[in-house]
Amino acid sequence: MLIGLHDSDNTGFPNYALMKISAWHKAQGDIVEWWNPLYFSYDKVYSSKVFTFTPESPYLPENTVRGGTGYGIYDPLPNEIDAMYPDYSIYPKVKYAIGFLTRGCIRRCPWCVVPKKEGLIRPYRTWREIKRPDSRDIVFMDNNVLACQHGIEQMRDMVGQDVRVDFNQGLDARLITPEVAEILGGLKWIRFIRTACDTDDMTEIVLEKAKLLEQYGVKPWRLFVYVLVKDIPSAERRVLALRDAGMNMFAQPYRDFETNAEPPEELKAFARWVDNKAVFKSAKTFSEYRKGVHGHNKDRRDQK
Ligand code: SF4
Repeated sequence: MLIGLHDSDNTGFPNYALMKISAWHKAQGDIVEWWNPLYFSYDKVYSSKVFTFTPESPYLPENTVRGGTGYGIYDPLPNEIDAMYPDYSIYPKVKYAIGFLTRGCIRRCPWCVVPKKEGLIRPYRTWREIKRPDSRDIVFMDNNVLACQHGIEQMRDMVGQDVRVDFNQGLDARLITPEVAEILGGLKWIRFIRTACDTDDMTEIVLEKAKLLEQYGVKPWRLFVYVLVKDIPSAERRVLALRDAGMNMFAQPYRDFETNAEPPEELKAFARWVDNKAVFKSAKTFSEYRKGVHGHNKDRRDQK
C-alpha cells in the first residue's frame, strides 16, 4: 500500500501520532511518504491536526483518516499502532526524542481539553523506552507528570544519567515538594523548567516554589512560566510579580477549544507585550505599552 501522511499544523515540532502510524505501516511492508496533494494514488492518507486554529486543508482526498484535537477527534491511536516506537526518519531535522511518561491528568481545569481527551493520570512509558540511541535530549509532553508516582520515579532515575530533558507542557508548581525540587535540581535541562501561573491564586505558589528550587541550585531565570490571559488586570498582576522575581514567561490569550473563537484584540496585544522580551522589559506596565511611550508599539494602530 502507498500511505500519505499530512501534518496539518506543520509547526516544525514532530507529530507523535504520525510517527507511530508511519512506523506501523512500514512494519507491514507499506510505502509511507508525506502526502502530496498533486498525487492521487494513495491507498490511505492520514491527517493529524493538533491545534483547533489550524485551517483544514480543502484538498484532502476521501480516503483520509483524520485524527487529533484540532479536528475535535479525541480517540486514542489503536493499541497496535500506539505500541510502535516512533519513526523519527520522517522528521530528519529533529534531533531529540519525544514521548510521554504518563497520560492524563488529575485536574479538570475548565479551559483544558486534556481531562476530556485523556482521562485520569496513569503510567505510560519509561524514559529508557523513549530515549533515542542517537540523542541525549528528550522532550516529554506529559500533561501533569508530577501527579503520578511513576512519573516522579522516572525523573529520579534520569538524575546522573547522560540525558537532558524538557517537559514542554510544564510542571504543576503545586506538586513541587522538597523531594521533587531535589530531583529537578539534579536533572540536566535542555533549557527551561516550565510551569504555569494561570490564576491569581497560583502567583504565591509559583513564587514560593521558585524559592524552594533555588535551594536546590535552580536559578529563577531557568523557570519559564506560561500565563493564561483571560482577564487583563489578573494577568498583569501575575506577569509583574513573576518578572520581579526574575523568571521568564509566555502569555497565552485564552481561546475556547470548543468554539475556537479568535481571542479579543486586547488579549492578543497583552500577549505581544509580554512575549517580546525587550519590549516587556522597557514598558513597565501594559498601559505604558499601550500608550506606546517607548516608540516601538505597533499596537497604537488599534487605538485609532
Ligand atoms: S493541570 Fe494542566 S493538563 Fe491538567 S487539566 Fe489543568 S491545564 Fe489541563
